[in-house]
Amino acid sequence: MKIAAFHYQAQAGVGLVSADLQSVQPFDMSPAERELGAQTIIERLARGEALPPLLPALALADVKLTAPLPKPRRNIFCVGKNYFAHAREFSGSGFDSSAQAGEDIPADPIFFTKVPESVVGPGAAIEMPAVSSAIDYEAELTVIIGRGGKGITAKDAMAHVWGYTIINDVTARDWQSRHKQWHLGKSFDTFCPMGPWLVSADECDGTKTAVRCYVNGELRQNASTADLIFDIPKLIETLSAGITLYPGDVIATGTPVGVGIGFKPPKYLKAGDVVRVEIDGIGSLENPVH
Ligand code: MG
Repeated sequence: MKIAAFHYQAQAGVGLVSADLQSVQPFDMSPAERELGAQTIIERLARGEALPPLLPALALADVKLTAPLPKPRRNIFCVGKNYFAHAREFSGSGFDSSAQAGEDIPADPIFFTKVPESVVGPGAAIEMPAVSSAIDYEAELTVIIGRGGKGITAKDAMAHVWGYTIINDVTARDWQSRHKQWHLGKSFDTFCPMGPWLVSADECDGTKTAVRCYVNGELRQNASTADLIFDIPKLIETLSAGITLYPGDVIATGTPVGVGIGFKPPKYLKAGDVVRVEIDGIGSLENPVH
C-alpha cells in the first residue's frame, strides 16, 4: 500500500493512494491523528490493529501532498558515506571532517540525525539560508520502521521495516565541515524534503532499487541501493544495539555519488533551481529552491 498525507480544503488528511496513482482514499481519523500523517497508521499496524475505515476517494490532483510523516516523533536517523563511490567523492572534496588520511571507506556505519522540524513535503521550497551558500542535495532511499525493538539482529531486521519513502538530505557543506559534525548543517529549516508517500515493503524492494537525482533536469545521481556499503539489516542492527527503535522511526540510508561538491568546481544549489529525486518503486520527490 501507499500512504500519503495531504491537505484538502484547509484540513490535514491521510489516505491510501490508488494503484493507478490517480486518487487517494482518506482514513476516517481524528484531526489530531491526521496532523501526524502516516504515523498513526504505522503505529496501529505495529500493534496488530486494522486500518481505520475509509472515506470516499479524492482525486490526487485535488489535494496538496505534504510529507507523509510531517511531524516525525523524533530526529531522523541518517547514514553518512554509505556508497563506495560517494565515500571517495566526499573524502576527496575537502569538506569531510570525519576522514583520516587514506580512510575513504568507513569501517562501521556513520550515523547522524536531522531535527524533525527540518521536514517539508513534495513541492515545498528548500529555502536558501542567509548563513551559507554551499547548499547541496543528497538523494536517499529512506526506511520506515514498523515494529520497533532493541537489539534487532541483521537476520531479523527486515521484519521490522514497514516500508520506504524518499528523502533529500539537503546539506550546508561549509557548516558540515567547519563544525566537525553533520547535525547543524543538515538540520536547517526546510532541509529535509520527504515524500511523495510511504510505500509498504511488500510493494518495493528497497534492497535493490534505483536512485536518481536531477537538478534542473540534469541527471546528477544514478545508482542502485544494492551498492550500499552497509545494507539495511546492518544499519538497523547497529542503530538498535543501544537505541530502542519505535514504529515510524525514519532512517535515511545515505546518498550515492554525484552530489554537488563532487564536481570541480562544486555545483551548489541556488535560488531558482528545482531538485527532483526518483526512486523506482516509490515515485518522485520534487522541490524548488528559493
Ligand atoms: Mg546524506
